[in-house]
Amino acid sequence: MFAAAAGCAAIASRPAPRAQTPARAWTIVGGQLADGSGAPLRQANVRIAGDRIAAVGAAAPQPGDAVVDAKGLVIAPGFIDIHNHSSSELAGDPAAESQVSQGITTVVLGPDGSSPWPIGEYLAERRRNPAAVNVAVMVGHATVRRLVMNDDYKRAARPEEVARMAALVDQGMREGAVGLSSGLEYEVGGYAETTELVELAKVAARDGGIYMSHIRDEADKAFDAFREAIAIGERAHIPVQISHIKLGTVGVWHKAAAAIALIDAARARGVDVTADAYPYNAWSSTITVLVPDKRYDYPPSVEKALDDVGGAQNVLIVRHAAHPEYEFRTLDAVARDQKITAVDLFIQIVKDGGAGVVCTSMIDEDVRAFYQQPWVMVGSDGGINTRHPRGAGTFPKVLGRYVREQHWITLPEAVRKMTMAPARRLKLKDRGRIVKGAVADVVLFDPRTVLDRSTFSDPATLPDGVEKVFVSGELVWDAGKPGGGRAGQVLAAPSRVLKSVSSR
Ligand SMILES: [Zn+2]
Repeated sequence: MFAAAAGCAAIASRPAPRAQTPARAWTIVGGQLADGSGAPLRQANVRIAGDRIAAVGAAAPQPGDAVVDAKGLVIAPGFIDIHNHSSSELAGDPAAESQVSQGITTVVLGPDGSSPWPIGEYLAERRRNPAAVNVAVMVGHATVRRLVMNDDYKRAARPEEVARMAALVDQGMREGAVGLSSGLEYEVGGYAETTELVELAKVAARDGGIYMSHIRDEADKAFDAFREAIAIGERAHIPVQISHIKLGTVGVWHKAAAAIALIDAARARGVDVTADAYPYNAWSSTITVLVPDKRYDYPPSVEKALDDVGGAQNVLIVRHAAHPEYEFRTLDAVARDQKITAVDLFIQIVKDGGAGVVCTSMIDEDVRAFYQQPWVMVGSDGGINTRHPRGAGTFPKVLGRYVREQHWITLPEAVRKMTMAPARRLKLKDRGRIVKGAVADVVLFDPRTVLDRSTFSDPATLPDGVEKVFVSGELVWDAGKPGGGRAGQVLAAPSRVLKSVSSR
């Protein structure tokens, strides 16, 4: 570590961006490299100097390097979680243990239409108090919609309102956002017409961003919703990311092949559509999402909603402020205890302020088919303190269960879905690959033991098998403990940030 001290002295007159940890060099020897491109594993040493990868291949340790014996381990680029809900949690938990222990080095925040605001202020705070992980942020469609329409959002927006939203999207992009996110299955975003989204997506496209959507329906009308997302991409000339792609009701089970054909056809005619998926057959959201016609107190609608997901035994209540004693019990079990029907209990819960639920309503066959598409990435839809095992288990679960145990995809392909694929999507030039000159976001994991341990009743249990994680060359996870590094950066296209500075 002292080898680097001479380099520091040379720039001592400049303000130090971070004073706490001295730059240091590492040589990781004897590991198998999954470089992020999907290429087969190969034996390679990796040398890290300061915040960069200095050499790959036959790199020998230099005097003063810390040498890491990676025998039996895989060296991979840090995992980029393209759909992460940690935006409000990072300030209180900058070590982000539940994230870095999975190998995550970058989180993309503000998905599902809901983002911090103003974007510039949020990112400035992340720069002032860096976390262990890098952050990028989307502008939330519902966030700007609410700013413009206030409580009068249960309708289509008027053209002048769309224009005001467009100005806010532009502001967010100039302040450093990487795209526009929408959550069209939710209260505020759900009232938007397609045209409104096209107009806003055009603004994000002009500023080099992508359109990322929790689409309008993930259930019986999922195909209409896929078509709408594709149409928005086509009309706004913007890359589209379908968030947590799924087929979430009995009526659309076994239809992954048709969904894939629809998206492949769009891609073939030049629409840039990709998706991400979390490795679970259960989703987590608010209880009202179950009822697509939004008639939460109308028994026939509620009854159909519960039938569509295979019954009330598939709905686990994970958060309900009015009755915490219901938490981690199913709707079915609580209803039987209360000697009322599950439909009546549902209606009561919504009246009592609603609840967070985990709903087992997908089938592995469809999850597998999506994961086997080259355009599907790994995204957690989780984050710090998520009451779903995906929050602490997503990346190790893919590597342990889908790669090692079930052979759905190869290890290099799984790593590509976690690294180069999302990096390309977000135009993060120096990340997502292990190549000389790239930023040293690096993960070392044991392919024989890596595995999620979080469960639906114990969603916070940390995974096994991730040995070391570096962010910008600083250790953030080391042999089962946080490494102390806080080198997480704000990732935004530099051209846009410059534009925003010069426009002030
Ligand atoms: Zn979502």
